[in-house]
Amino acid sequence: MTGLGIYIHIPFCASKCAYCSFYSRCAGKAEHNEYTRALIKHISEAQMKPSDYVVDSIYFGGGTPTVIGERNLIKILNTVYKSFKINPDCEITCEANPNSVTLPMLKKMRRAGFNRISFGMQSKYLAELRNLGRTHTFEDVAAAVEAAKKAKFSNISLDLMYGLPSQSVSDFLDSLDAAIELSPTHISCYGLKIEAGTPLAEHPETLHLPSDDEQADMYLAAVTRLSEEGYKQYEISNFARDGLISRHNMKYWTLEDYWGFGPSAHSLVGKKRFSYIPDTSRYIAALSQGDEIIEKIETINTSERCGEYVMLSLRTTEGIRADVLEKKYLTHFDKIEEVLLRYYKTGHATFDGQSWSLTPEGFLISNHIIGEALDALEESEHLVRPRNGYVRKDV
Ligand code: SF4
Repeated sequence: MTGLGIYIHIPFCASKCAYCSFYSRCAGKAEHNEYTRALIKHISEAQMKPSDYVVDSIYFGGGTPTVIGERNLIKILNTVYKSFKINPDCEITCEANPNSVTLPMLKKMRRAGFNRISFGMQSKYLAELRNLGRTHTFEDVAAAVEAAKKAKFSNISLDLMYGLPSQSVSDFLDSLDAAIELSPTHISCYGLKIEAGTPLAEHPETLHLPSDDEQADMYLAAVTRLSEEGYKQYEISNFARDGLISRHNMKYWTLEDYWGFGPSAHSLVGKKRFSYIPDTSRYIAALSQGDEIIEKIETINTSERCGEYVMLSLRTTEGIRADVLEKKYLTHFDKIEEVLLRYYKTGHATFDGQSWSLTPEGFLISNHIIGEALDALEESEHLVRPRNGYVRKDV
């Protein structure tokens, strides 16, 4: 039986943040309800032999899922329960803005089966939050975490951002300490990216962004501080206590199957990758008329999968393994190892006797290293059959 992740996309937010390029927009209750009906139709009509897969992760993301209200969220979750075989210890996450939840709402969600909640905190400072167009305060975050604990959510994640306009390293560490103080089980730290088409991209010269060196200092200080507090890094931007890594995220990074529902949602099931119409109104109309909702579908061949393995495994602290590349993808590891050996000598990569991974300093330049690894993959020879044991070079 294969594990399957389900992703539910809720493309609505209460307001639009100044840095956000995700597919989401503001809408009223009528559209929330109409969307919920369409999504339920989509999920309940989804074709998959129940004996093939067991769902071990359900993730409501967006957007801000909680803006559609707990009644709609619970209806959607119940539809997933009815349509798929669910593992009893399935991780069921909902993303939420701190000012979009109440204790009664969280209690109802918990009773319905949600067992993990992820709040976008971003910063403890009001000025930084307002620069980002966030409508909540740090007090809202503290109240939301307390309410989630009271509602018996024992797995709580907080998102933080660094590299914000006018932010100093100590400002960021203050926010990180404030997040740690709330004792979540999981923390994500993302660097702010100024995306084209967002309000922040209109006058970037006025933003007073920290320099690249300052941003690197923030990241490295966060890795150290989080490690001291028992948060183990498992991916470039993600840290968890007590092994409570996000199953949903890990499925994506380890090329496991996941099925996304909703406009613009992507899926990887078996050898097929597909996505749905990236427009909420068209998605709703197509579902009500019984029209095609798939925007794009492709079959992933082994060599593409191999490229994805190289690219995604190097984002994680589990890293890349020669035996996986050779046995599963029938590709020589030697050329990639040459790249990693070079970065080993400069302190950007490490080897634990089985797998190669990047160090925190390596994660800072991961795009560059992964690019080189992919170039090396292009030059790598293919094997006719797996080699009997891989002999690594000395490190
Ligand atoms: S709440 Fe999240 S998805 Fe919504 S606008 Fe802000 S960053 Fe984007």
